[in-house]
Parts: sequence; structure tokens; C-alpha cells
Amino acid sequence: MSDKAEYEYCRLCGYVRRVGKGGVCPACGARERAFLPYEHKASEQRRMFLKLDVHPVSVHFTISYIAVIALLYIISIFSSELVGISIEGTRDLQIIFFPFLVIGGGITGIIDGKIRFRKLTTPYLQRKIILGSGLFVISVLIFFVHNLSTTDGLIGLLEGLLIFSAFGIASYLGWIGAEMICPIVPVGRPKE
Ligand SMILES: [Zn+2]
Repeated sequence: MSDKAEYEYCRLCGYVRRVGKGGVCPACGARERAFLPYEHKASEQRRMFLKLDVHPVSVHFTISYIAVIALLYIISIFSSELVGISIEGTRDLQIIFFPFLVIGGGITGIIDGKIRFRKLTTPYLQRKIILGSGLFVISVLIFFVHNLSTTDGLIGLLEGLLIFSAFGIASYLGWIGAEMICPIVPVGRPKE
């Protein structure tokens, strides 16, 4: 933790900056005298990784992706094409990529959890790991059910059920993630 730079924080909004920048708080506009000395607890490299938000960015792709898959599933009930583009072809491609996006979300989640909380055994992280693994299984099931060469209505219904449960789980995972954004560990502290 050899971080020689001096920091100060805005006591109105919590914004942290290097000492010497001067001027009003760029986040909330408070006057310069609102700033007090601050000390980071984590190394610069660790803070830099967390600042990149690799996991939140990665899972936003996963959630928007399954949302589009769900939307296309509904459209496919009524039409086989949209503005001249085959719905089925689009769905085929999306369903192939989805499990890889889930894997990406899982890998970045484990790295993020390790760097942010130093362990993966907290109640929320354990729940995220279990649900994330379940989401991966469902994403693979969607692929297999989608590729069954059958026109059986029940199989179509099963595919829809899997797609919407994947959307539900992905959204819930996102919700837990948002809950965990507040305690961004490791934070620093005001300097005495
Ligand atoms: Zn401020």
C-alpha cells in the first residue's frame, strides 16, 4: 500500500480527489473548504481495477442480451421475420452466444469479488455464485431445447419458460449486485 499521494474528500458528497487540484467539488459543487484530508486503504492497482467496473459492465451485456432473447421469443410467436430479417436466424445466433456471456459474467464476478472483498464466502457472493451457476445451466438448456428439431408446441413453451426464468435470474443477480455497490470495499477513511 505504498501510495504516497495525498488525498482529500468532500464532506458533503464523499467525492475523493488528489490534494492540489483545488476549486469547487466537481461532483456536487461544494466550496473548496468542504474538503478534508483523506486516506485510501487500498493500493492504487487495486483501486484502479475496481474503478474499471469490469464485472458490472460485463453483466450489463448479459442482462440486455437475455432481455433481447426474451423479446425475440415473444415476436417469434407472431411473426417469422421483422423488417425483412429472419427472427429465427437472429435467435439461433443469440442463443449460441448467451452461455459464453454468462461464463464471462461469472469469471469477471469471481475476480471482482476476490479483489473487492478479498473472499467469496459472504452471503450475497455465495448466493450470486449459486444463482450464476444455475443461470449457466439454463443457458445451455435453452441452447439444446432451441435446437431440438421439432414443432411440438410444448417444447416451444418449455423454451419460453427457460428463457423467462433466465431473464428473471439475471435480473435478480443484477439487483443483488446493485445492493453491493454501496459498500465498495475497500474504502478509505478521513484522516485524523
Ligand atoms: Zn462534493
